[in-house]
Amino acid sequence: MSKSTKYIFVTGGVASSLGKGIISASLAKLLQARGYSVTIQKLDPYLNIDPGTLNPYEHGECYVTEDGAETDLDLGHYERFLNTPTSQANNVTTGRIYQSVITKERKGEYLGKTVQVIPHITNEIKDHIQILGNTGEYDFVITEIGGTVGDIESLPFIEAIRQLKWENHEEVLFIHLTLIPYLAASEELKTKPTQHSVKTLLEYGVQPDILVCRTEHHLNKEIRTKIARFCNVELEAVIESIDAETIYDVPLLMQEERLDEVVLKHLKMPLNSTADLKKWKEFLYHHKNPVQEVEIGLVGKYVELKDSYKSIAEAFIHAGAANQCKVKLKWISSEDLTVENVEKELRGLQGVLVAPGFGTRGIEGKIEAVKYARENKIPFLGICLGMQCAVIEYARNVLGMEGAHTVEIKPSTPYPVIDIMQEQKSVTDMGGTMRLGAYPCELKEGSNVYKAYGKKEISERHRHRYEFNNSYLEDFEKAGMKATGVNPENNLVEVVEVENHPWFVGVQFHPEYKSTVVNPHPLFLAFVKATIQ
Ligand code: GLN
Repeated sequence: MSKSTKYIFVTGGVASSLGKGIISASLAKLLQARGYSVTIQKLDPYLNIDPGTLNPYEHGECYVTEDGAETDLDLGHYERFLNTPTSQANNVTTGRIYQSVITKERKGEYLGKTVQVIPHITNEIKDHIQILGNTGEYDFVITEIGGTVGDIESLPFIEAIRQLKWENHEEVLFIHLTLIPYLAASEELKTKPTQHSVKTLLEYGVQPDILVCRTEHHLNKEIRTKIARFCNVELEAVIESIDAETIYDVPLLMQEERLDEVVLKHLKMPLNSTADLKKWKEFLYHHKNPVQEVEIGLVGKYVELKDSYKSIAEAFIHAGAANQCKVKLKWISSEDLTVENVEKELRGLQGVLVAPGFGTRGIEGKIEAVKYARENKIPFLGICLGMQCAVIEYARNVLGMEGAHTVEIKPSTPYPVIDIMQEQKSVTDMGGTMRLGAYPCELKEGSNVYKAYGKKEISERHRHRYEFNNSYLEDFEKAGMKATGVNPENNLVEVVEVENHPWFVGVQFHPEYKSTVVNPHPLFLAFVKATIQ
């Protein structure tokens, strides 16, 4: 373990979905605002190697990092809060741990030993936790353990962090996030579930240093004292986490509760710095006090589960605040969108976004939405599959290419305007084999995207197998759909725009992954601006 890096582990108890990711990100923000370098890691107890092969219904959005890792959506929160990139090392699943242990076993690296959960799996977990610390870049590595304490599947993770604490007493801190339920009938907050959850942790040899208590009502001194006494923590280490209006309030609430101070004290670090949250507060002010409102339709196939489009929704929050504008999203199910009802569904919207996606379901609805936005001159942003739909729509309805399609959905189409990428043709495995991560793109001067970014060379993250078919490029450009962003190395079309339209942009990449609180994404900024006009 590198001497200077401190490790903070965040576990969860009583119930899932208490917001470990947001608490981790908020603490990281506070430490960062005091001048420390911080990164956050998520350990997920499931057996998939990564969430790339998971349906969004299972696990929400798959977030993609600069280095092309397909990760848990919490990494999106980490980047949005900290404004620093994460990487493959920031998200580790049980599947990945086992994969690497089994690979070593097959290579004979365990020298004839029986390979076991303890020590081999736990050692592998400990190594993965320390990869980030060993870079020497960070004062703090905050590691969030997915799942709820007591789950069978997270046991090896808990055992690994117990060992780390035992080996490096001074460098390790445990935070346990728990729930204090309110019984309306008796008008009481109950601490028993928390006591039990801490007891379970103690059975595994882990004594939490700090308890962050999710609650709907303020915790008074009496309740705090009771929790402290029964859970064996100091009174000041009982931190209230009351339900917040937005996730972006949480760092400020944690600051009020002095979470960062308690952490620093425990780790025997100086308290002389103060957290500078000026920019954060400015953002929050504009987010909560917009001077105008626009409504944008988000057309996708997973709209019942808003976590599927988490980064897009957050990017609108960032871009909205910067434009002093509330962006109201109308979630529109592409599957239910038809020629007959598209007008009724989209009329009156100031903008339309067609979302990324895979597969057949809802594709024709997405194409109808593009057509409506194009013909009615409504500002439009198409992302990945959304861009591909814009190309298909233009081919069919402007270029007269009847039956034009993407070969992903209709391999026999007479006009394969979206085709499989050369490098994807031989791919048979599904996991981690798409075109992933950051690639360069060169923008055409004078285009809307160029105006948005204010520069020619950009780099954006990708997650796709199909691409614009360049053999049709000339036809498209003649007819008014221009390629205004192109990969300079291989000529892949990255951006298309339609002429004689106020703002019609389709991008093969995913701008939403790079939007953060202090750095709203230029394309979302420009799109929101266009919807205001
Ligand atoms: N399914 C499309 C492709 O693989 C688009 C992917 C996406 O929208 N992320 O190219």
